[in-house]
Amino acid sequence: GVTDMPVTDSEALATLRRVFGYEAFRGEQGAVIEHVVAGGDAVVLMPTGGGKSLCYQIPALVRPGTGVVVSPLIALMQDQVDALRALGVRAGFINSTQDFDERRVVEAEFLAGELDLLYLAPERLRLEATLDLLSRGKISVFAIDEAHCVSQWGHDFRPDYLALSLLGERWPDVPRIALTATATPATHQEITRRLNMPDARHFVASFDRPNIQYRIVPKADPKKQLLAFLREEHPGDAGIVYCLSRSSVERTAEFLTRNGIEAVPYHAGLDAATRAAHQSRFLREDGLVVVATIAFGMGIDKPDVRFVAHLDLPKSVEGYYQETGRAGRDGLPSTAWMAYGLNDVVQQRKLIQSGGGDEAFRHRAAAHLDAMLALCETAQCRRGRLLAYFGQEPDPAGCGNCDTCLTPPETWDGTVAAQKVLSTVVRLQRERGQKFGAGQIIDILLGRRTGKVIQFDHDQLSVFGKGQELTEGEWRAVVRQLLAQGLIGVEGEYGTLVLTEASASVLRGERTVPLRKDPKRHAASRAGSSA
Ligand code: ADP
Ligand code: ZN
Repeated sequence: GVTDMPVTDSEALATLRRVFGYEAFRGEQGAVIEHVVAGGDAVVLMPTGGGKSLCYQIPALVRPGTGVVVSPLIALMQDQVDALRALGVRAGFINSTQDFDERRVVEAEFLAGELDLLYLAPERLRLEATLDLLSRGKISVFAIDEAHCVSQWGHDFRPDYLALSLLGERWPDVPRIALTATATPATHQEITRRLNMPDARHFVASFDRPNIQYRIVPKADPKKQLLAFLREEHPGDAGIVYCLSRSSVERTAEFLTRNGIEAVPYHAGLDAATRAAHQSRFLREDGLVVVATIAFGMGIDKPDVRFVAHLDLPKSVEGYYQETGRAGRDGLPSTAWMAYGLNDVVQQRKLIQSGGGDEAFRHRAAAHLDAMLALCETAQCRRGRLLAYFGQEPDPAGCGNCDTCLTPPETWDGTVAAQKVLSTVVRLQRERGQKFGAGQIIDILLGRRTGKVIQFDHDQLSVFGKGQELTEGEWRAVVRQLLAQGLIGVEGEYGTLVLTEASASVLRGERTVPLRKDPKRHAASRAGSSA
């Protein structure tokens, strides 16, 4: 209970120094730990790398009994426990990777009061046997890691997390601490409600990562753009390149290696031994580049990751923030670089439409994508947009360390261009059963007599050749931004462009369409303009 054992601040600090070898608490750590050690509930929002683990590890060590940590990251438990044991902390885990005997040993240690920390997968807490085991031992604190997994609106929902509200009912005297690195104000409230922690104290660290420079460039020839970026700005540096598909991970890693940059692939299709080998090389060696799907990085604690590059659009701002947050944990200048283009928008909108899930799921996915697109297309400070997204106050003057602050993009009146695109879509929509994507529309506007244009008599349309004032790349930027703003939609597996409800007001001239001018590409990053 709360008054089991009065502890002073200095016990926590002494533990920090003796066990972990650190001099002082960082940011909110000291306040969180003091509160939990005294028996209070806490909800902790701290960005990746902020030092969340100590917030429950130290209370677990200082308070009598075992700290029970609920974590969905089963793959990391062994490493976490090994690292703690190396420090002399008595830690164990129970999850589905163990056989019966291994589990038995840990259970016995727990019951004998020989564990400081016990890591559990959330699905374990659905089993009466686990709850029974826990009630037969002594628990010092419950830590619920990755607490945003409880949110049905989040990007990482895990149904097993909903059962965690029972912890407070069954163990009313044991303090609970919920931790997450991703929480918009709405998720934050949902955590508190679903975990049933109305009296918890909230600790919110700043989400700003001032040493990370955010940049989002128009995608032309992404692999070449990436190569130029690495050669010019990060030669010999360690970093992570994220791609959406396994095949593009493989191709990109090969491409970099062929061009003299040491790179290894990492994705769920590789066997476990290869993945482990690539991960440990990344941690051990200097200057290795890992090209990965999002499967890579959860729990990776490498302080000197100098860049995170995205060759494909993340599905949400939360995902983008978490992935870019793996750069620069040591506080030194780092870059979050992303190449983003028309195909990204088409592809992701398509995926949402044709993907599984119910209406609510699609609605949620679309809202996440819209927020991500708004970040890509903004003419304002990117850091400001990010912080505002997480409910924090941005500096109104801008950050001075993102691309839009460093080279403010020009905007132009794209109303007429938008009307041209939309009226072409209207004409093509009349051809029932035919599917045309952005490429055909741009060919028509540019007046190109391609095979497909001739085949469908599109050179007979009144809009044919009426868009020669812009280049192909500029038209792609127009369509991309119309898609991002919801002024045009996409349908079906071929990415057919269609009108949306908002299109009508543009066609009728009732609204103007301000567009962002894509920056002129840096000379050395110049690449072909087809993507
Ligand atoms: P998070 O879980 O929030 O992503 P971690 O708990 O993994 O962050 O901590 C990130 C890194 O910071 C780890 O290497 C950890 O050892 C280190 N760290 C945490 N707290 C301190 C501290 N008070 N002093 C020095 N290093 C710390
Ligand atoms: Zn900025």
